[in-house]
Amino acid sequence: MTTMPRTALTNTREPGPVADPPHLRLARAVTPIDLEAATGAVRALLTALGQDVGSEHLSDTPRRVAAAYAELLTPEPFVLTTFPNDDRYDELVLVRDVPFRSLCEHHLLPFHGVAHLGYLPDQRIVGLSKLARVVEHYARGLQVQERLTQQIATCLQRALHAKGVAVVLEAEHLCMSLRGVRAAGARTTTSALLGLHREHPPTRAEFFALTGLRQ
Ligand SMILES: [Zn+2]
Repeated sequence: MTTMPRTALTNTREPGPVADPPHLRLARAVTPIDLEAATGAVRALLTALGQDVGSEHLSDTPRRVAAAYAELLTPEPFVLTTFPNDDRYDELVLVRDVPFRSLCEHHLLPFHGVAHLGYLPDQRIVGLSKLARVVEHYARGLQVQERLTQQIATCLQRALHAKGVAVVLEAEHLCMSLRGVRAAGARTTTSALLGLHREHPPTRAEFFALTGLRQ
């Protein structure tokens, strides 16, 4: 039995005269993983699926599968540091094609693709590599693409208080391409738009034009 990781965003405020620089610590409360129990459960699953776990070829498979899932389900905590926007940069910041992989919570099969992340700065800016870290953080775990997209956008907005945030995810779901309808190559696109990216059509249009995506 598993419980969904809950997301906790805590503002660790530093004392000082400056008004609350938001260093957002991303740490999700996850139930500790019992690798030994997971290994046994994979062995039982393989047996129930008619596989010969006594064979030499499969002898170490349960342990490897358990370790692989443990890795995919464990988000690494990190601190999302932002900086004052001293130069008053007020144009769109856009990072395209950030690769990610996650696990579909309905089939335990991977979905993978790219994320495009944009924001319109106000008082704070963020190191560009941290944008990719946010994607990776929320991708670890059992997910659906819609929720993952929303979580990334909400997190960026909480850290940056930007004038606008836009997140688009494009992904191929192996549960769609390997089984069922076998729609190989089909990509699912989801978006989360906040602030001016939601309310101001020209701002939204600029984001989609620069990502090369159709609206
Ligand atoms: Zn699925």
